[in-house]
Amino acid sequence: MNRKSTPVRVRIAPSPTGSPHIGTARTALFNWLFARKEGGTFVLRVEDTDKERSKVEFEPEITEGLRWLELDWDEGPDWRKKPDGSSETTSKGEYGPYRQSERTDIYKRYLEQLLKERKAYYCYCTKDDLEAEKQLMVAQGLPPKYSGHCVNLPKPPAGKTSSVIRFRSSEAPIEFKDLVRGKTMFDGSLVGDFPIAKNLETALFNFAVVVDDELMHISHVIRGEEHLPNMPRQILIQRACGFKEPTYLHLPLILSPVKGKLSKRTGDTSLFLYREKGYLPEALNNFLVLLGWHPTDNQEIFTLQELVKAFDIKRVQKGGAVFDQNKLDWINAQHLKRLPTSHLARHLEPFLEEAKLTPPAPLLHKAIEAERARMKTLKDFIGNAKFFFELGDYDTKLLSWREDALETTCRILEHVKEKLSAMDNARFDRHAVEGALSPLMEQEGKGSVLWPLRVALSGLRASPDPLEISEVLGKEEVLRRLTIALGKLA
Ligand code: GLU
Repeated sequence: MNRKSTPVRVRIAPSPTGSPHIGTARTALFNWLFARKEGGTFVLRVEDTDKERSKVEFEPEITEGLRWLELDWDEGPDWRKKPDGSSETTSKGEYGPYRQSERTDIYKRYLEQLLKERKAYYCYCTKDDLEAEKQLMVAQGLPPKYSGHCVNLPKPPAGKTSSVIRFRSSEAPIEFKDLVRGKTMFDGSLVGDFPIAKNLETALFNFAVVVDDELMHISHVIRGEEHLPNMPRQILIQRACGFKEPTYLHLPLILSPVKGKLSKRTGDTSLFLYREKGYLPEALNNFLVLLGWHPTDNQEIFTLQELVKAFDIKRVQKGGAVFDQNKLDWINAQHLKRLPTSHLARHLEPFLEEAKLTPPAPLLHKAIEAERARMKTLKDFIGNAKFFFELGDYDTKLLSWREDALETTCRILEHVKEKLSAMDNARFDRHAVEGALSPLMEQEGKGSVLWPLRVALSGLRASPDPLEISEVLGKEEVLRRLTIALGKLA
């Protein structure tokens, strides 16, 4: 099969039936990486054929999730309307998505064709008929499938309306190739004639997928392993319509560390939950790509751009990939350490807003520098760094180091304040503060000076080094907080 000349076109095809799933994010990522690696096109197609389960409010969540992960898509039905009239297809997430609900006429055309060619037929069986038929087959020890009752009806039964349009299957083995699994066979005799539409206006999932993949010139179908059972039906429809077979790649299941497939029961499956918990999109992408792919070397931390370079579709693994929360935490911490401060500040905005904190940018940036080594998630920053922006109340007794009496602590802190007041505003860094306090520390002992300073500045038992806090807060704020501590001690 020569696919060299075929341009790479891939898609993510989520159904808007719930908040975006972490597995959908992984599928989107693999498709996006492959498209970007090959200079191809990444298409977003919203599969809203199931009218009962699809909800319009979930589509914006899908686009928001992809944008958050920076997985931009390239085109949509409206891409030609570019204001400058250019016909470039790369619109970087501004256009589209394609929606199956807007493509009813297209599916109808193909349904009519299959009906005309007698490759599909109207079925008049009711739910009860089908249930009775199924029970009978089970009782006879046969695998249940449709009997073909309506396939050769000379005319519609009087007084009955059709329940579905059924595809006429064959018994022949169904074979297809998967990039990681190789040649895969299904027993065609188990498939039976299956519904492809409720009526001409309402195509069902497998049919719409196959038509869209053909008309959108999808070269590679990359999706989760849970779609493998759909393959026999999709291949049969594809062949009956005379469509090309794309290259298939089914990504391994995401397994829970406990048991079986990752599910709501065994772990968090909602993409936005990870955002709320303070995971970075770059960390999540990094973590998700390792659920089913690994690089040639031992590199574990990648930016998205590095992934585009390193990604090789041939290195996708077959076996299930275990979702390891500790690994995600570690990867997140690594990205938190590396990200430029301004970038990190942008990611922190929603968390600061939620905590009603509005630090000025220079203070925020310094606090990030002081805290980033301690952070596992963005949320940690709020808990750990809040004191930089807002001094909370604390127990006066906390100011005293070990056995020091409150009077001693008061006397020492007065000295500290005096020394720091005399310092140059412009050179108020940790080394200068340490220098200014070192005679006092020698005289009183390090703990008796630094402990009350730490508590006066942070109000906390555990915090970064007080010299570092001093540098972040600056002279004026340090003196203000020392005055508060002395007021408590007085
Ligand atoms: N709409 C399907 C889903 O949300 C994906 C179909 C496909 O990738 O072929 O799981």
